[in-house]
Amino acid sequence: MAILGIDLGTTNSACAIWDGDKVQLIPNRLGEFLTPSVVGIDDKGLVTVGKVARDRLISHSDRTVAVFKRLMGSNHQVQLARQRFTATELSALVLKSLKEDAEAFLGQPVTEAVISVPAYFNDNQRQATRLAGELAGFKVERLINEPTAAAIAYGLNQRAEGTFLILDLGGGTFDVSILEFFDGVMEVHASAGDNFLGGEDFNNAIQEALLAEQGITALDLSPQQRAQLATAVERSKRRIGLPGDNRISLTLGKHQIDKQIDDDWFTKLATPLLLRAKRPIERALDDAKLNPGAIDEVVLVGGSTRMGLFRATVGRMFGRLPACHIDPDLAIAMGAAIQAGLKAKDAALGEIVLTDVCPYTLGTEVNGPDSKGGGYFMPIIERNSTVPVSVERSVVTAHDNQQVVRVAIYQGESRLVANNIHLGELELAVPPGPAGSQQVDIRYSYDMNGLLAVDVTVASTGLKVNKVIEQAPGALSTAQKAEALARLDKLKFHPRDQEENRALLARGERVYQSSLGDQREYVANVLGEFDKVLERQNPQEIARLRAKVNEVLDKFDRDNWL
Ligand code: AMP
Repeated sequence: MAILGIDLGTTNSACAIWDGDKVQLIPNRLGEFLTPSVVGIDDKGLVTVGKVARDRLISHSDRTVAVFKRLMGSNHQVQLARQRFTATELSALVLKSLKEDAEAFLGQPVTEAVISVPAYFNDNQRQATRLAGELAGFKVERLINEPTAAAIAYGLNQRAEGTFLILDLGGGTFDVSILEFFDGVMEVHASAGDNFLGGEDFNNAIQEALLAEQGITALDLSPQQRAQLATAVERSKRRIGLPGDNRISLTLGKHQIDKQIDDDWFTKLATPLLLRAKRPIERALDDAKLNPGAIDEVVLVGGSTRMGLFRATVGRMFGRLPACHIDPDLAIAMGAAIQAGLKAKDAALGEIVLTDVCPYTLGTEVNGPDSKGGGYFMPIIERNSTVPVSVERSVVTAHDNQQVVRVAIYQGESRLVANNIHLGELELAVPPGPAGSQQVDIRYSYDMNGLLAVDVTVASTGLKVNKVIEQAPGALSTAQKAEALARLDKLKFHPRDQEENRALLARGERVYQSSLGDQREYVANVLGEFDKVLERQNPQEIARLRAKVNEVLDKFDRDNWL
């Protein structure tokens, strides 16, 4: 019996099966491969999913909901008519609709599924997706990372090895992933993105420009007129770059819109958005310490990568054309179906999921370089750190006779805290003294459930306060939270104090003392590097360098005996 490969998307969902030697896409009851991920409740109280619901989004906004994938894993409930639903329940309704359509099309029950999730989904969000599948009546064979599914659709897993960049520009989100394929395992190396950049932004840019030319705003239009304009804009956006006339002619009440949408006009509107798209690409490359030349293949998925301008921008960045010959809306469902087929044959591709990475930088507010005031961000846990992770940084009092230290907790990538997300704060008393005389140690510990534990200690008095921040409040039960905290507690000491690191430093010191000249300088450099890495407190980095330091010391020890 076939296992259904499902792309549970933010805007649209799709599904496919592996029929033994190729992918077969499954049309829905309307004969279409894409089912909008929109759920509505009609006037009779019946649930509708897909296009019918999407068409009522503007006219029946209180009875229709879209883009709930963003809320996956949280306890947030969405009001729909008189009922309340979590994102998991809404996703289950979409999955159930896909299941029914697949069963009708295939003429047999479909009970197993492989469902795709964004690479950056944490454990909670993955569990919520799995649960949605189960609520829909599936046995969820496995979850597959969306970029991995895209890579499989392009057959990249049939190469011996390679480094791939997957760009997924959908309706409302932009996801960037770097995959490394080696020894039959696809590893997500770095992930970045912009949760609020997608095709809709290009539509909005066109729409706003059109309205501005009329001297009006969307508020001057009725919901029906807005829907009319949105449809015309979407149609026209898809015609950009194609031969033939591309004109928007609309009468919206007393307003008349008649505009030739030419390529140059659109390019000007789209340029700021394309620049925004470049940032996460550069960030993912930076994080993976790769330059564009190291990427073996760039793959485009998501409906908005059909835009010629986007393809050209990516082509310029990498000096070659990206792979985009598979329908960008269907590639992920196809990849999930192939994975399901491999699974059935017991040849499933291994995958290292990214639940073990903290996707954002977590830090605190400190004074600026001129010491004139706060507002500056000091990173404590860097983004893409492997979790669980625990890092301590110290700060000192900024003013003479300061009585209280306030530790503000932020998430984000900006140098200025104002541009980052404020997660909470802590305050504690410090003994009076001149500025800089009191040291405060701030420790952040983060785990894969998105739990951030912050411990702050005044060095001179030993006074301690702590706070726990949950990414999805309420997602963990009290017992789960206690368990997660106990796990983090084990990490809460400086790696410099770990026995094997202490022993290695002592051994290095001995080799340093017993060597001379160039050799001595070399050992000092290696130890200096180790010190720096210990300071960064990243366990993987430390383990890697520890192996190297051991090797160097082994060599010198041997040479000294000769
Ligand atoms: P997805 O979330 O992957 O289904 O992508 C949907 C987005 O793709 C929507 O914002 C569409 O406007 C966009 N899209 C689909 N086809 C085209 C096209 N031919 N040109 C530009 N954008 C498109």
